[in-house]
Amino acid sequence: MVYPGGVTALAGVSLTVGAGELIGIVGPSGSGKSTLLNIMGTLDRPTGGTVELDGQDVAELSDRRLSALRGRRLGFVFQQFHLTDGLTAAENVATGLLYAGVPRRRRRAAALDALERVGLARRARHLPHQLSGGERQRVAIARALVHRPALVLADEPTGALDTANGVAVLDLLTALNREGTTIAVITHDRDIAAQLPRRVEILDGRVRSDLRTDTDTDAYPESGP
Ligand code: ADP
Repeated sequence: MVYPGGVTALAGVSLTVGAGELIGIVGPSGSGKSTLLNIMGTLDRPTGGTVELDGQDVAELSDRRLSALRGRRLGFVFQQFHLTDGLTAAENVATGLLYAGVPRRRRRAAALDALERVGLARRARHLPHQLSGGERQRVAIARALVHRPALVLADEPTGALDTANGVAVLDLLTALNREGTTIAVITHDRDIAAQLPRRVEILDGRVRSDLRTDTDTDAYPESGP
């Protein structure tokens, strides 16, 4: 990925996230994580290479079809939660279904179900400002998974939280993954990445290592001979 002005933010990155994975993408500031997130999230089109979602080359889709696919197949979690202030927790979660073509009544039921999954059923009628930071992030996570996306992309999901709430959010993501949700966590924090079963390390726009806890084999032994 080359930005206008000539900055090469990603080069030679080949990454496949399989269904059911929980993967951490870790690297220092400026390493290319946000660029990779934007490309994986189909928010940006790469200047070179291909991106496939569900086996479909997204370059072949018009912007309209691509945003429909994004709305149905991806979920996003942001560092600063990005909840809508005037909406209750349940209403915020239901907005995750707007692009999935779900009728209004079913949206509410699904939102309550998703809040239950993140342990916040009792906060359904609360407004964001009536919730703690950790609770807000759990609402945002419920919104990201209410439409049962193929992949949830979480950009520094614990970055705005204190340690205890950060641990709780990471535990929640781990539990949701065990229930079958595929999740990619983007983080600069090695301690967070270390808790995830697969860790892809990005440096200077390249994948430096791709490690899995179960096998500990490195798919990119670039530092080797
Ligand atoms: P990270 O998320 O790991 O901090 P980024 O993906 O934001 O890294 O940035 C990778 C590199 O690309 C950096 O050198 C950054 O300055 C550059 N970059 C990011 N966005 C743009 C942009 N819109 N235009 C030009 N350069 C950019």
